Amino acid sequence: METTEFLVVGCGPAGGTAAREAARRGIATVVLERDTVVGAKRVCAAGLRPGFCEDFDVPRSIVHLDPGTITLTTVEKTYAFPVGPAHTTTREELDGTIADLARGEGADIRTGMLFRGLERERDGVVVEYADARAGVRKRIKARSVFLAQGSSARLDDVDARFRHAGWNAGLITCFQYRVYLARPATAETYGTLEMHYYVSPLSGRNVIAWMFPKRDHLSIGLGIQAKMPGAALRAETDALLATVERRLFPGIPYTVRDEGNLLYGGLPRASIGADGVMVGGTAAGLVDATTGEGIHEAATTGRLAAEAAGDARARGTDPAPAYERAVKRAFYRRLRHRHHLMSFLERRPPRFDVLFRQLEETPRFAELLQSDRNAFSAWERMYLYVQAAKFSLRALRA
Ligand SMILES: Cc1cc2nc3c(=O)[nH]c(=O)nc-3n(C[C@H](O)[C@H](O)[C@H](O)COP(=O)(O)OP(=O)(O)OC[C@H]3O[C@@H](n4cnc5c(N)ncnc54)[C@H](O)[C@@H]3O)c2cc1C
Repeated sequence: METTEFLVVGCGPAGGTAAREAARRGIATVVLERDTVVGAKRVCAAGLRPGFCEDFDVPRSIVHLDPGTITLTTVEKTYAFPVGPAHTTTREELDGTIADLARGEGADIRTGMLFRGLERERDGVVVEYADARAGVRKRIKARSVFLAQGSSARLDDVDARFRHAGWNAGLITCFQYRVYLARPATAETYGTLEMHYYVSPLSGRNVIAWMFPKRDHLSIGLGIQAKMPGAALRAETDALLATVERRLFPGIPYTVRDEGNLLYGGLPRASIGADGVMVGGTAAGLVDATTGEGIHEAATTGRLAAEAAGDARARGTDPAPAYERAVKRAFYRRLRHRHHLMSFLERRPPRFDVLFRQLEETPRFAELLQSDRNAFSAWERMYLYVQAAKFSLRALRA
């Protein structure tokens, strides 16, 4: 049977970063990616946090625009905040570039390979996969495995310890239009990331929607936490598109490419590391439920998995426990909080206005909430508690 040191499943930002950083450490790395072209099928608004390219050493050439403002819109009002600047790109460029960089470090990225399952042996993990090109099933043995197959990672039948009762309930159906305009939209379109929160008049469901500007198109889409028939989803997206068109590109002809995908927006998975197997990115449930962002979290888990694999190799130990501890320390507190906040807001949508108004009135609060660092000082923590208490009191009256 073929063997390797580190096997990665999925070549999104989590898998690609893990492969790149493990290979850079001299670890023999193989990636199994289902798609034939890395990133080509990823449906995503592809907004990147400020500093992403520097943090992950990705060339700035993938960045389309650097919006310096984010607007949060409810049925009542639009609230505007300075951001970053943030960045926009496309997933074919982001994932494709990270994969190329990983190849450059020596990772063996194999496309058209579908992960089927794994079993543990005394001295490693055996992964079974389908080679779609050759039409055969294959097995490969690795010292450790990083599972990063995104929102399709139910994992119940892969390892009972990774089972997550809330996985299906956390899935959000997303639909997005890439809108290619014959002429540029209004100037402010290209300097702003738009997020919209409303209850749909069509379906009566909570909707989270966005307009993210790109170099050559606008990504206009929405997510709804329910299974929706295609026609209903399209009708919701058409209604959103009409409102954006009226404001940003009235009378300008355009063509549309539509794309749909599932986003996981529930709580992080309880267990993400056991006996040589680590789970990362969206497969670990690491998405900010208030914004749908998860690229930064995914890439960070890839980095942590590569670090854990390198350290474990030096010590001859299992990387999974250290990996799980590091990821939980980095993200779980904030992401669980974001999930509870989103559920609280969606139960009574006027609460969105209470929060956004408070953020607008207290820019320091907005700035700290945008930060994903856990390294708040004692004063900042206390300030956040006071602001959270103020918000809770106001929101309960809303
Ligand atoms: C509509 C939408 C908009 C979003 N917008 C943003 C945004 O603006 N900013 C942001 O930060 N985040 C955004 N997200 C979230 C972001 O897409 C995810 O957090 C991010 O992609 C997670 O990266 P990942 O590497 O964990 O998984 P993915 O990017 O999902 O990558 C998983 C990879 O695994 C492969 N794969 C799946 N199954 C198998 C298998 N069985 N065998 C082999 N390979 C497999 C897939 O082909 C894919 O390449 C958005 C998500 C959606 C759905």
